[in-house]
Amino acid sequence: MDDYRSPWVDDEVAALKDMAGKFFETVAIPQRERWEEQQRVDREFWLAAGRQGLLCAAIPEIYGGGGGTLAHDFAIFEAQAATGESGFGNQVHSGLVAHYLLTYGTEDQKLRWLPGMATGELIGAVAMTEPEGGSDLKALRTTAIRHGEDYIVNGSKTFISNGVNADLIILVLKTAPADGTRGVSLLVLETRDAPGFNVGRVLNKVGMKAQDTAELFFDDVRVPVGNLLGAEGMGYGYAMAQLAHERLVVADWGIAMMERAVAETIAYTKSRRAFGGPLIDMQNTRFELADCATITRVARVFVDHCIVRHLRGELDKTTASMAKAWVTEQQCQVLDRCVQLFGGYGYMLEYPIARLHADARVQKVYAGTNEVMKELVARSL
Ligand SMILES: Cc1cc2nc3c(=O)[nH]c(=O)nc-3n(C[C@H](O)[C@H](O)[C@H](O)COP(=O)(O)OP(=O)(O)OC[C@H]3O[C@@H](n4cnc5c(N)ncnc54)[C@H](O)[C@@H]3O)c2cc1C
Repeated sequence: MDDYRSPWVDDEVAALKDMAGKFFETVAIPQRERWEEQQRVDREFWLAAGRQGLLCAAIPEIYGGGGGTLAHDFAIFEAQAATGESGFGNQVHSGLVAHYLLTYGTEDQKLRWLPGMATGELIGAVAMTEPEGGSDLKALRTTAIRHGEDYIVNGSKTFISNGVNADLIILVLKTAPADGTRGVSLLVLETRDAPGFNVGRVLNKVGMKAQDTAELFFDDVRVPVGNLLGAEGMGYGYAMAQLAHERLVVADWGIAMMERAVAETIAYTKSRRAFGGPLIDMQNTRFELADCATITRVARVFVDHCIVRHLRGELDKTTASMAKAWVTEQQCQVLDRCVQLFGGYGYMLEYPIARLHADARVQKVYAGTNEVMKELVARSL
């Protein structure tokens, strides 16, 4: 394909992306199968990524971060996605948790937690979804009831990315259960010394096998009042405000995977022969690849448009929802068409295309399902 460069990628961001890509390719990919078997990425890898400057790149240096912009974060996420390594939950850690802390944390909280997140000593997670439902955030059942200088947390969460490794978990829960959305707050659980907190099963997923997605249980867990993030009762609004960013992170991850898939398929169809010639000489192959390359470019331009607006602080929730739903829908369709061009090899996990395909499906589900995205878009019409 040609040498299109995203408008938000300058030489410095391009160099970071290049460095990050080499790091994931040489350090992460050789360990991937072992991580998949143990269903989580080694903590040592988090520390190595921290030393490499790949954690909290957009967090100011006074809090230990890289002092960059969201462009640096997006470049690192894309570099990882393009290698097909999907276990390392940096999009949640640097992309979400760090920004929640930066946006809503007190000075003391930022100084206490962000430096450790930047080195990889503290791994972050966000826990919203509960076993009874994820889309309907208003129906949360996990509670935090204040007793003196602590909140007492009871309930459970599920599908939590980085759930096993996490040292800091931003819990979205109810501090005033009778008050509907006005009773929702954010509480930071420090997992290392938290009696009553238990991590359940690491969930056995269709893809993203090295990602430690887990169930979490809270049985009278004491969390100091000082760990409240922002104001009590404002958690629903905070979570909604961060969702535009989260949705763009998912769309960005999706476009990087699509680009890798198309490149893999072009290379494969040039080398694979059938009926006396390379697959790419067949009209169906050429038309399929032309379609996939065009859809991928259109998605890239849309994602770039969103990132540029986001960097200016101008990305609205509706456009972010459009990007999440549309790009991930295209991602799944393009991945399926690419797998078809690989024939049986496309179903073999030793081929990157098979893993990209397996990892793609959940993109339409997490960070708000695509149906919920369409509801949000429709509401704005
Ligand atoms: C691999 C993975 C990682 C995840 N990581 C995290 C994480 O780190 N933190 C976290 O909090 N959560 C996480 N999730 C949870 C994810 O965000 C939820 O699965 C998702 O929000 C959907 O919730 P649900 O599974 O309860 O489905 P449900 O809410 O039960 O939805 C089931 C179906 O009903 C549809 N539906 C629901 N409401 C509506 C509506 N109003 N209109 C139309 N259709 C609707 C949905 O679109 C879906 O098709 C993760 C999930 C997975 C699979």
